[in-house]
Amino acid sequence: MPAFADNYIWMLHDGTQAVVVDPGDATPVLQALQARGLRLAGILVTHHHPDHVGGVDALRPHLHGPVWGPARENIPQPCTPMQDGDVLTVLGQRFQVMDVPGHTAGHIAYFQLDTHEAPLLFCGDTLFSAGCGRLFEGSPAQMHQSLQRLAALPANTRVCCTHEYTLSNLKFAAAVEPGNAERAQYQARCETLRAEGRMTLPSSIALERQINPFLRCDVPEVVAAARTQGATADDAVSVLAALREWKNRYR
Ligand SMILES: [Zn+2]
Ligand SMILES: [Zn+2]
Repeated sequence: MPAFADNYIWMLHDGTQAVVVDPGDATPVLQALQARGLRLAGILVTHHHPDHVGGVDALRPHLHGPVWGPARENIPQPCTPMQDGDVLTVLGQRFQVMDVPGHTAGHIAYFQLDTHEAPLLFCGDTLFSAGCGRLFEGSPAQMHQSLQRLAALPANTRVCCTHEYTLSNLKFAAAVEPGNAERAQYQARCETLRAEGRMTLPSSIALERQINPFLRCDVPEVVAAARTQGATADDAVSVLAALREWKNRYR
């Protein structure tokens, strides 16, 4: 469900119970629960930013289960601390926690295990469609490692990001890789979706590998573009650092 200007709060439900991810605002969550007659069985938190945790305390009176969040960040308490490799079960679904520092120092992601459908990934502000989060607390090397771990997940993984940044990311991706035909096709598709007021997400890991410049720091065209924007070397971390700086000033 949409929240604020460009946030999404993901809700997973089985018709009776629901779990929400990164509820920055309680109001749309309570409305959705009420509209569908659902009971809130848990809250997943990826990192400490207010647009991801701002609604947690207001949801507690309606919550019949835990809040799970990153062990290494300051999350509204009580919160069950999670770190790399931990597994939680909610609504009968198992999720594995991955440490993905970079946007914040203790950012985590949740990857769905043992599903015969395409697995879900709740990656917060680490991986966006065609982009990645700003480096507020982490280094380019950390973000590179985090993104590579996410890129190594199964190709059909459904990538549930927390912001609708896809079109602006794609504009930047077009400047980085003007010759990427898959990116051009995807951009046209997303422009249509947004013109119809629809979301561009979830994306997939397969698609992101093809079109997201931050997952493509070893592709010659991406390396060459980063070189023109201040990359001091051809290695993937230097390329990612230059791309991220370039994106910060790109309009
Ligand atoms: Zn954030
Ligand atoms: Zn955010």
